[in-house]
Amino acid sequence: MNSTLQQIDIEKFRKDFPILQQKVHGKPLVYLDNAATSQTPKIVIDAIQEYYLKYNSNVHRGVHRLSQLASEAYEETREIVQDFLNANSVQEVIFTKGTTDGINLLASSIGRGLIREGDEIIISAMEHHSNIVPWQIMCEDRGAKLRVIPINDDGEIIFEAFEGLLNERTKLVSIVHTSNSLGTVNPLREIIDLAHKKGVPVLVDGAQAVPHTKIDVQDLDCDFFVFSGHKVYGPTGVGVLYGKKAWLEKLPPYQGGGDMILNVTFEKTKFNELPYKFEAGTPNIADVIGLGVALNYVQKIGYDKISAWENELMWYARNRLQEIDGLRFIGNAKHRAGAISFVIENVHPHDIGTILDREGIAVRTGHHCTQPVMQRFKVPATTRASFAFYNTKEEIDQLINALHKVIEFFA
Ligand code: PLP
Repeated sequence: MNSTLQQIDIEKFRKDFPILQQKVHGKPLVYLDNAATSQTPKIVIDAIQEYYLKYNSNVHRGVHRLSQLASEAYEETREIVQDFLNANSVQEVIFTKGTTDGINLLASSIGRGLIREGDEIIISAMEHHSNIVPWQIMCEDRGAKLRVIPINDDGEIIFEAFEGLLNERTKLVSIVHTSNSLGTVNPLREIIDLAHKKGVPVLVDGAQAVPHTKIDVQDLDCDFFVFSGHKVYGPTGVGVLYGKKAWLEKLPPYQGGGDMILNVTFEKTKFNELPYKFEAGTPNIADVIGLGVALNYVQKIGYDKISAWENELMWYARNRLQEIDGLRFIGNAKHRAGAISFVIENVHPHDIGTILDREGIAVRTGHHCTQPVMQRFKVPATTRASFAFYNTKEEIDQLINALHKVIEFFA
């Protein structure tokens, strides 16, 4: 059996994604913006459509047939996620709107439940804004302090600095697994081990991890893990917060409303058990069902093959990009996945993005919601190419050809 994907597999898998078959500006679409949103296979779209066509109904409420079908499909996704992350129980799987929503949930809940004046939260200098701003808001509310692990010139965290930041006031470490703008994969085992030695829980932002890498939350031993459906071939508007049961039981609910209660009187409300305590109101039923189908789809292909192929693609792209005059990588971490960021001397990333678009190539340009990373590397923006298992070396060759055109144009 092959340990990576072969051309023949990729051609077959690409047929699962109708959107990839189209032309943009008369050229075949080359989609290299997967870190922003990956594409959705037809089976996921079909599952969502089937829900609306055949059993659209609210969950956990009705005794009627449609509601039972919807509840079963919704809860089946919870089991799929439990298996996907290797969580200990379905009670540890909370459905959210996405990574941002999961972090806001925790920041609010931990803030009210655990944080006192003078406490500290540690993040890193490569975080997405969604793992900075919720903590800033919470710290301001609670009189707590945000501490930031610096990164080196290659875009890797400085471990000794992390060690120096951990102290008896630290209440949480919240850190990205894989950086969306640098492509760095962080040494999470070491980070989590060290934090736990000091009794500090760790939240992992897994938004850019789950599309590329097999995650085992028990093996990682993280206390919380968040990800978004739309970056792992699922729909937008849905994501997951995993939390160790002991922590989730300790924390107060985030939002109040239907489904998160056992009993309500005007004097007092008794909250529901996990995971419903953290799922107030009617959830995004259709997209939760779609997420389950997407996760089954990737698991069927297999993370060993996905990771091996994407790694091959990424290093092929890094090698070929070095041909481009004046190109400089932003982020040179040795352990990396998913995304490559670069700048080209005297050409603004937005101009690069616009010219590539005319060639049918979709890349991301801008600060990638990591403005502190741009400040650290003293660039206003970068161009980012990010990969999925359905990308090919021919597509990377097309990117390189188009970049040569950019250089000619600005010469
Ligand atoms: N964290 C990282 C590392 C990301 O790359 C992103 C999105 O790009 C997010 C968090 C936020 O994800 P979402 O917008 O799906 O909530």
